[in-house]
Amino acid sequence: MSIKKELLVYNSLTRKKEVFTPINEGFIGMYVCGPTVYSDVHLGNVRTFVGFDIIYRFLCYLGYKVRYVRNITDVGHLLDDGEDRMSKGAKAENLEPMEVAQKYTNGFHEMMRIFNSKKPSIEPRATGHILEQIEMVQAIIDNGYGYEANGSVYFDTLKFANERKTYGKLSGRVIDELMAESRSDLKNQSDKKHPSDFAIWMKASDDHLMKWNSPWSVGFPGWHLECSVMSTKYLGNHFDIHGGGNDLKFPHHENEIAQNEGACNCSPSNYWLHTNMLLMNGKKMSKSDGNTITPEDLMSGNSPHVSQGYDPMVIRFFMLQTHYASTLDISDDALKAAEKGYKRLMQANQVLSKLDTSGAGNAEDEEILTLIDETLVDMCDDFNAPKALSRLFELVPKINSYKEGHLDVNQLSKETLAKLKALFNEFIFDVFGLKDISSGGSESANVVNGLMELITDLRQDARANKDWGTSDKIRDKLTSLEIQLKDGKDGTSWIIN
Ligand code: AMP
Ligand code: ZN
Repeated sequence: MSIKKELLVYNSLTRKKEVFTPINEGFIGMYVCGPTVYSDVHLGNVRTFVGFDIIYRFLCYLGYKVRYVRNITDVGHLLDDGEDRMSKGAKAENLEPMEVAQKYTNGFHEMMRIFNSKKPSIEPRATGHILEQIEMVQAIIDNGYGYEANGSVYFDTLKFANERKTYGKLSGRVIDELMAESRSDLKNQSDKKHPSDFAIWMKASDDHLMKWNSPWSVGFPGWHLECSVMSTKYLGNHFDIHGGGNDLKFPHHENEIAQNEGACNCSPSNYWLHTNMLLMNGKKMSKSDGNTITPEDLMSGNSPHVSQGYDPMVIRFFMLQTHYASTLDISDDALKAAEKGYKRLMQANQVLSKLDTSGAGNAEDEEILTLIDETLVDMCDDFNAPKALSRLFELVPKINSYKEGHLDVNQLSKETLAKLKALFNEFIFDVFGLKDISSGGSESANVVNGLMELITDLRQDARANKDWGTSDKIRDKLTSLEIQLKDGKDGTSWIIN
């Protein structure tokens, strides 16, 4: 296996950009926190999962064999009032909790398909790993970092922080601060020794819907536990990458690290990657705040926030234009601009795929080869998709000039043209995960290309016969469809604006 280039990643754990070195050469174990399936995914969730999809695709593109584990949280993620989100969802919809979980898991999968995200290698569910979670609780107790109180088990943060000095290393929070701000007023949680302790097993009340037998009580696991258990079950005690949205840094990821260290004396992941939040009107898009736009509404345009519907590939392109670690504020204007950019890129790729050369190469080659190389360098710089995308856009005017005859394509070497075609194909479709919907895929693209050739030929004939009426009629109709004709020395070319 040959890896194409050195990769730099921003590691949230060290707060530095570091050279990425996998534990086993050529292989990567990556765990990403999946959705809590108690309601429909919102666009913020999509941003995070698309972000990691691009990271996953690029790691594969570099030549790594990646085991990508992304879980489904179907138990134990608590609301502020201490109620399990799944139980609350089930009661609200009058469904079995597992019906709720299945319904929204299906919806999540459908959304990932619509946004052309690759499936993970393993997608474990929290409810399928209760035994392993009970084992980890026991290991934490055996190592002295967990204690039982009234059937619930808590992680002893103060003891852990005093002995190991690592609690807070990811989020930068210090234990005194946590002690002051943590809440002990949550249902079932007044038995904690210290306010910052967190439940790893919770005794269930009689009316709680999802509960299992354990050595301590009939209850359910704490939310953070599932990811500690499922990541290490499928990737080993120590693996390469752990990801999620940056709202999960604390308490979820910090507590995951504490649990892993408490249970097996081993920090789970070498590199922690966090996507930043999708904002709407400057505020985090969040299900619990009701500040969301559904992907369906954005696609159909059925929302006061947008003037029209947008294709999921345009939305994906819009997301690509911002680095995964920066906030992304959604607006109608930005989406409109993304739609234009997306069309321009697809159009250029169609033009490029039809270019041919008999030439031997000249100075043009050097400029193009440099841009090709820089595209890869940008992606290797902490997956900088917006920068890599801008390199492709630097190449677009050149491609159009070859088509229009302003530049002579025969001055390009066969090798450079082949590299340029490969770059566009591999980055647009394999790495960025876009699909060409401008004409419904490559088959329809061929039909559109054929029709456009026929139309431009008919217009040429009309012009040759001095039939200006027909020639103008064709041009005006195409203009109204935002297709621009350009007459060059080698004939007429066309571009969708
Ligand atoms: P949840 O279903 O709430 O557990 O979230 C699933 C994933 O989406 C987690 O990695 C969250 O960090 C992420 N997420 C939640 N809200 C947003 C948002 N507004 N923008 C980006 N990612 C988000
Ligand atoms: Zn998680």
